[in-house]
Amino acid sequence: MDIEALRRDTPGTAHRNHLNNAGAGLLSQRTLRAMTSHLELEATIGGYEAADRERDRIDATYGHLARLVGGRANEIALFDNSTRAWNAAFYALPFRPGDRILTGRAEYGSNVLAYLQTARRTGAEVVVVPNDASGRLDTAALAELIDERTRLVGVTHVPTSGGLVNPAAEIGRVTRAAGVPFLLDATQSVGQFPVDVAELGCDMLTATGRKFLRGPRGTGFLWVRPEALAALEPHVTDVAAATWDGQRGFTWHEGARRFETWEVSYANVLGLGAAAEQALELGMDAIGDRARALGARLRDGLDAVPGLTTHDLGPDRCAIVTCAVEGTAAAETAAALAARGINVTVTDPAQTQFDTEDRGVHPLVRLSPHYYNTEDEIDSAVEALAELAAAARAAGRP
Ligand SMILES: *Cc1c(COP(=O)(O)O)cnc(C)c1O
Repeated sequence: MDIEALRRDTPGTAHRNHLNNAGAGLLSQRTLRAMTSHLELEATIGGYEAADRERDRIDATYGHLARLVGGRANEIALFDNSTRAWNAAFYALPFRPGDRILTGRAEYGSNVLAYLQTARRTGAEVVVVPNDASGRLDTAALAELIDERTRLVGVTHVPTSGGLVNPAAEIGRVTRAAGVPFLLDATQSVGQFPVDVAELGCDMLTATGRKFLRGPRGTGFLWVRPEALAALEPHVTDVAAATWDGQRGFTWHEGARRFETWEVSYANVLGLGAAAEQALELGMDAIGDRARALGARLRDGLDAVPGLTTHDLGPDRCAIVTCAVEGTAAAETAAALAARGINVTVTDPAQTQFDTEDRGVHPLVRLSPHYYNTEDEIDSAVEALAELAAAARAAGRP
């Protein structure tokens, strides 16, 4: 990987030490051009006419995303974010009183809200699978908890609030053996490291465009295993999702397109396609190796500083690094880093309440490098945090 060339192709790297790829990755010039040139074409010849002219490139987005997760183009549906993609899958499942939804302690907040709403509405029950001693979902406990009432296993692969990687492939082996649908929220993993639906054994997978995939904001997608479609009834329909047959009936469209609505931002679709194509060209193995190596360098650097503690769980940790400066609020630390041109964010205890209950460590400062960051950027973030920790100690905090 030619990091200098990749950085020249990423305008934001000239202005910031961007360690917030779990929030939104920086766009490449290529992605930016794919979007702006389409907006210009729409303004020049008309929106429908621009879509007609770019139809092949628009359609190619499905193929790029499919290759990225190891599926086929007709198994992909596009959305305006990952949450809508996830909702399209989740709310397509039928639940009755006494049915059980199994999830993990690192589940994303919006997913938990959907489970709770469905429980309230249908009488289904939400069961939270415990973690193992390392802090990842305990697959032996999952296997024990699955029974004839279980209608879904819904798990977050990489939580938004830390470097944990849940054992998705092991979870997939358990759900396949039990014949229970497995919905994987891969929002933080797609684009960060290789994700392969055959290897993971999930039935539905959701991801966003803007995070480690470096696509535009306002994009997301769903992958659905063809065999899983029969058990899913989309909770809304649209002329893009189904055909109105002879006034009295309708037929769902083939494949995952039945989850889509007709109107979309084609500039965003083309941007997402360009970002996915770029990730494929660079190779997800190389991207994943470098992102994880930078994450490990950052975590090791922070762990070596007195007054700094990292808080990432699990034996297999990714490019998301969470830490605390003793005696300093996370928001204050993040603001001090922002003043030095270092982009980070802060975890929200209310959005990860199972983990908050388990550990009580949130809010934490979250740093999330990606392959286009440099070792120097990692080291200067460690240095900045070390100075903040030293200042807190000098001031007698804690
Ligand atoms: C960001 C995130 C989401 C939501 O993605 P959107 O594209 O913002 O809807 C879902 N799950 C996880 C784990 C996330 O980090």
